[in-house]
Amino acid sequence: MHCYEAELLYEERTPFQHMLLFDTPLFGRCLVLDGIVQLTQKDEFIYHEMFVHCPFLGMDNRPKSVLIIGGADGGVLREVQGYEEVERIVHVEIDEAVLKACRKYLPEVCGNWDDPRVELVIGDGAKYVKEAKGRGDRFDCILLDSTDPIGPAIVLFEPPFHKDLFDILSPGGVVVRQSGLPLTMPKVMPFVLRRFQDFFPKVEVYRAPVPTYGDEMAFVAASKSEGGISQPHMEKRGRFYNPDIHRAAFALPTWWQELIDGFEDTGEVPIDSLY
Ligand code: SAM
Repeated sequence: MHCYEAELLYEERTPFQHMLLFDTPLFGRCLVLDGIVQLTQKDEFIYHEMFVHCPFLGMDNRPKSVLIIGGADGGVLREVQGYEEVERIVHVEIDEAVLKACRKYLPEVCGNWDDPRVELVIGDGAKYVKEAKGRGDRFDCILLDSTDPIGPAIVLFEPPFHKDLFDILSPGGVVVRQSGLPLTMPKVMPFVLRRFQDFFPKVEVYRAPVPTYGDEMAFVAASKSEGGISQPHMEKRGRFYNPDIHRAAFALPTWWQELIDGFEDTGEVPIDSLY
């Protein structure tokens, strides 16, 4: 595990969380929220490419309408905007201060919120999803790029939210959530898997090796179609992503499978398993 030699660039206590931005010689600029590293310039491309390309290329049909929740840094937005066939992108982020700081200090990570396809909503993702359900709104793909289950993100891990997600997904739609680091937060990924299994016919786990995090990041993908997203349907090569990487990401280490099989589901959000 690398040690960070870090120089503080910016600090703010927002209404929702404690934000720090550092410059580090090894990983470049780095965003930290409530003491948890969110991304570094050096390897954010691995996380963001895997977050977006796996569902987009693994779905039977390319999504036209996309909902992003969290992701103030704009990295997921950037990758989604690379798909010309996407017509509508709703981005719901609770903390405008993080978004503004990322725009200023991490411009090359950020997507473009001025794109006419993008509707930026500053607010709680769970509330937005509930209201979207009331309006009969539908999305082909939902990407949950929230913080881990602490602070404002806890509501995004509670059971009713998962039913609302199911209801606002189009037939054949997919929702993907960043689901933490199994090494240091062993209950989060199995918990997310179970909550999606409560409603979705196909739920898969895949991995992205992001050196910054000190362990592979788990993503959980829940599909309304039985086919899932583990096979790419189109050729694409990113800086990290390619079709072989896509397929390989769905092969799980034995100990991840053991975490899933041995998980005791109390229904409680695993807030205490973060450290
Ligand atoms: N890559 C990241 C990681 O490692 O966890 C996540 C990146 S992004 C910075 C996480 C964002 O989720 C934060 O900006 C936070 O404000 C946002 N967020 C947390 N709870 C939220 C909620 N209930 N609704 C919308 N956004 C939320």
